[in-house]
Amino acid sequence: MSLVTRFAPSPTGYLHVGGARTALYSWLYAKKRGGKFILRIEDTDIERSNQASVDAILEGMHWLGLEHDEGPYYQTQRFDLYKEVVAQLLAEGKAYKCFCTAEEVDAMREAQMAAGEKPKYNGMWRDRTDHPADKPFVIRFKNPQQGVVVIDDMIKGRIEIANSELDDLIIARSDGTPTYNLTVVVDDWKMGITHVIRGDDHVNNTPRQMNILAALGADIPKYAHVPMILGDDGKRLSKRHGAVGVMQYRDNGFLPEALINYLVRLGWSHGDQEIFSKAELIELFDLADCNRAPSAFNTEKLLWLNQHYIKTLPPARVAAELQWHLTAQQLDTSKGPAIEAVIAVQGERVKTLTELVEVSRYFYEDFSEFEENAAKKHLRPVAAEPLALVKQKLAELTDWQVEPIHHAINAAAEQLGLGMGKVGMPMRVAVTGGGNSPALDQTLWLVGRERTLARIDMALDFISKRAEAS
Ligand code: GLU
Repeated sequence: MSLVTRFAPSPTGYLHVGGARTALYSWLYAKKRGGKFILRIEDTDIERSNQASVDAILEGMHWLGLEHDEGPYYQTQRFDLYKEVVAQLLAEGKAYKCFCTAEEVDAMREAQMAAGEKPKYNGMWRDRTDHPADKPFVIRFKNPQQGVVVIDDMIKGRIEIANSELDDLIIARSDGTPTYNLTVVVDDWKMGITHVIRGDDHVNNTPRQMNILAALGADIPKYAHVPMILGDDGKRLSKRHGAVGVMQYRDNGFLPEALINYLVRLGWSHGDQEIFSKAELIELFDLADCNRAPSAFNTEKLLWLNQHYIKTLPPARVAAELQWHLTAQQLDTSKGPAIEAVIAVQGERVKTLTELVEVSRYFYEDFSEFEENAAKKHLRPVAAEPLALVKQKLAELTDWQVEPIHHAINAAAEQLGLGMGKVGMPMRVAVTGGGNSPALDQTLWLVGRERTLARIDMALDFISKRAEAS
């Protein structure tokens, strides 16, 4: 029997971090075992579902590289099937019509609570046949009244629930539309899902769903409930904690490789290894190694992983992802060094791609002012002579490469009997506009000959104007 997993988000918002992690676990579990991963959009809550959320989920899944093998299925396109199954359960006496009004159900609850009991539907229409002709009704599942349901949860272990704890669940509303628990069951059954991997906020639904599946004579899948993710304050991760939508991480300059690596470790471990490629994850991931306890989100660690991947992925791969940021931050790179070369040099120095764009502007754009503090400190009259000499030596170079540039700067410093700091810092400010950049020779090489020489002139001009003014 082949293995089938699914990710079944409700499109009521973006793909959040918790959902993405569940999707990742389902995806990995299927990939490792040559199984199939299905994407199913649970859009039956018409009020809260919307197309923008569907698009955001599809975009997020694609960005993370969690491609589905089948789907996406949309539950709103499967109503006929759900209705058939409800009719079947009704015909077989496994479900029944309940004519209780909302007031009656409320009164039932209040009486139970007043008596100190757990409120639940009391089954008053379970066995009745005196059905009124034209009163509205809902359809309830006839939950077994005896025995226990046992979930052999692949993460949480064995969970037992007494059927006496479960009431007769509504499976179709008075307008005939199916409810959440019914649609999930029908789809898990019809789609041949063998492993349901989902958030543990659904663990209370599982015994009910298992009972319905049993009533349908369907195979019961294995269940794995993934513990929730907490914010750094120990509360359930939510919007209050900042970026929780997956695409927000893209916008903030994270690589999908980093987010995947981060998410998988948020609740799963393999010894003390921290860095995993996707291929390794497919090889190593197992539900048996998932934590039972919730995990706390740690932005520092995500940043650390992101930096690792910016530094170590092939620059062409980072470049592909960087392109989005270049467009978003309106940086035209057509007149300047290849972005792969910039990544190779700057990758060491940044934690995000947004930062990478910010600190790389001077490779592509000229500036009209130097950073005030850097200029005050380094573009002083004493810097004029070394700047002019370096410029002269650079202008003579026939080969604009890192090595010769390096030698030209050294030769100028030596000739003037100056330490590298006295030459290097003014050069850095002159050519980049500020006091921070990669190694000077590499920086100049990337900035290019023409721009370098013109910027030294601009700095010399700045110094002489400053001298005149004082
Ligand atoms: N649609 C449900 C949700 O987004 C998930 C249902 C399931 O995984 O069974 O919470």
